[in-house]
Amino acid sequence: MPLTNKHLLPESLRSDFPIITNDLVAGRPLVFLDNAASTQRPRQVIELITRVYEHDYANVHRGIHTLSERSTELYEQAREKIAVFLGAAHAREIIFTQGTTGSINLVARSWGETNLRPGDEILTTVMEHHSNLVPWQQVATKTGAILRHVPLTDDGRLDMSAFQKLLSERTKLVAVASVSNTLGTINPVAEIITQAHAVGALVLVDAAQSVPHLATDVVKLDADFLAFSGHKMLGPSGVGVLYGKEQLLDAMPPFLGGGSMINEVRLDGFTPAELPAKFEAGTPPIVPAIAMSAAVDYLQSVGLAAIHRHEMALTQLAYDALSQIEGLRILGPAPEHRAGLISFAFERIHAHEFAQVLNDQFGVAVRAGHHCTQPLHKLLGISASTRASFYLYNRPEEIDRLVEGIRIVQAMFAPQGRRRTRPQ
Ligand code: PLP
Repeated sequence: MPLTNKHLLPESLRSDFPIITNDLVAGRPLVFLDNAASTQRPRQVIELITRVYEHDYANVHRGIHTLSERSTELYEQAREKIAVFLGAAHAREIIFTQGTTGSINLVARSWGETNLRPGDEILTTVMEHHSNLVPWQQVATKTGAILRHVPLTDDGRLDMSAFQKLLSERTKLVAVASVSNTLGTINPVAEIITQAHAVGALVLVDAAQSVPHLATDVVKLDADFLAFSGHKMLGPSGVGVLYGKEQLLDAMPPFLGGGSMINEVRLDGFTPAELPAKFEAGTPPIVPAIAMSAAVDYLQSVGLAAIHRHEMALTQLAYDALSQIEGLRILGPAPEHRAGLISFAFERIHAHEFAQVLNDQFGVAVRAGHHCTQPLHKLLGISASTRASFYLYNRPEEIDRLVEGIRIVQAMFAPQGRRRTRPQ
């Protein structure tokens, strides 16, 4: 399908992103293709952060003075906005955390340690980010629960018939990424939730790579828990969200103890606060959380459907071009099953070396390494890969720069992997 302007977002939105338009790398405008690691921020988010620090900042839920009231109001309005953005029934189902990692650890430590017994099973997948593996390994060690992993099909999708076989009445929780940060695979989360619920298991969705790119409706999805990060959706780092069904969160003990999460403290004990405060001990990431509301506004003003269309057009373009490069192995499925990222590997060129030259010579920023999916890389028989990930400000010309860079850098390496010329 030829790429036309109707698939793409207007170029004019790039001017909202100062870093994209101001920065030169290798003497050329920056091509930022590392969005799956962290995105850039539009002026609207940066300006809100400045405005809050200049006019509205104080600690939240503490003071009775004007500034504290103002920052508390902004903080709670951000929570309301995120609840609407996710289709949640109540704002008290939205817990601010430090990010996806913080959100998953909260569930593992609070729900997991309370509810899992020896022999219970936690079902996750081989394509998970370490954030959705290690907390479950830790909780399994503590509780005696057993961790099982859904394997992949040959083309890098979840093997759903294996999933059905692994699912049983022993399964208490399924923890799965909605989009793989390495393969780009869009997983059939709705189907997974329906099947998990049929055996009485809960489902935690690691939505770090989907909330910024695809419309999410937690009620329609019937997700029990859903986790994501601010910095991957045009917001600041240091803040993320755990969505949880109210009755589940209500029944869970607080994860961290300290200020704000209590109703009353005695020398011999405490009673926890109501939701959501129960899970927000200490001073929260006040301004980052408030700034997430500007990120949500921005995403909604552009429209998630339009963002997805744009990313899919770029992905198809990149996939077609990369498929033509001899010796380059694309990881993961065909474009129709993937979101806006492509990881690839060369047999004899290390991803780090490759990405370094791509940056230094072409100003193209990509991620190289194991992308926090070491078990997946091991399974694929490689130790590292290079990942290009797209977002709403990327353009077709940037894919051309990536592909041109790849071809030239590849030619700099001798056929047996020895470099012919070190680029100057
Ligand atoms: N899960 C997935 C699928 C991710 O891509 C990432 C980040 O790359 C994380 C979890 C962890 O996110 P954070 O580092 O923001 O906690």
